[in-house]
Amino acid sequence: MASYKIKIGSFKCAAISDGFFKYKSPMFPNPGKLLFANAPKESLESTLREHHIAPEKWTEWVSPYICMTIDTGEHRVLVDTGAGDLDINTGKLLQNLKEEGIAPEDFDTVILTHAHPDHIGGNVLTDGNPAFPNARFVIWRDEWNFWTSQKSSPESKDDEHLNLMRGLALKGLLPIRSQLVLIDREKEIVPGISAISASGHTPGHMALVVASGDEKLFIVGDAVLHPIHLERLDWYSAVDFDPGQAVFSRRRLLDMASEENALMFAFHFPFPGIGKVVENKETWLWQPLA
Ligand SMILES: [Zn+2]
Repeated sequence: MASYKIKIGSFKCAAISDGFFKYKSPMFPNPGKLLFANAPKESLESTLREHHIAPEKWTEWVSPYICMTIDTGEHRVLVDTGAGDLDINTGKLLQNLKEEGIAPEDFDTVILTHAHPDHIGGNVLTDGNPAFPNARFVIWRDEWNFWTSQKSSPESKDDEHLNLMRGLALKGLLPIRSQLVLIDREKEIVPGISAISASGHTPGHMALVVASGDEKLFIVGDAVLHPIHLERLDWYSAVDFDPGQAVFSRRRLLDMASEENALMFAFHFPFPGIGKVVENKETWLWQPLA
């Protein structure tokens, strides 16, 4: 399935697949370590089994990459642009949009949750031209500054990884400079779509809330990478830049979504990545919609 449509009030939304990516060694640690870096071995294994994952056989994390389009009636908005030509299985966004009758020129706003390569790789076409020529690109100011400033972080344990990520970030960010809008507070980007600061995964990671009528959808980006993160709130991933802040932001978003009985959309969840955050004792459970 490449697209999944849903209405939030009067807004027409669609989850659109950009493909998928297999996270595995030697590029990445095994999925347990990658997604739940600080999880004690025994409780990780028992939690995985509860989710019908055999710990010893889980050697690759096959993650969907899912973008979202929102037609508010007034604005045509795209959230994240996928990974582009990062991998043979990615970069399907434009084709899948076309199948929905949506042209890249139709978007007036592209919102980037953060500047990791799987979220901005589709900003530019392979010939170097902007993929969404009529759109302004909205990104959190700290995110832009982090990737485009030359300094690498003194706290970083892994400069080589950070430099690789920075190179990919600049490849996606620099060509959209003339289309850029930086924001640094929680405000409406277009009527009905508001920014929520959700730093941690990256320094300027941003979530969104889409509200129309009495319905709401929280777009959490990579603040929640796997459904198990709803149950194990303090398990962070090896790719979270600031683990403490990432855990704080995730908890805040889940709190907001469950309190408002809203839907949630997550980029890396099983397609279409849309569901409910259901209370379960002290934590939550993921209840997929489809
Ligand atoms: Zn991601």
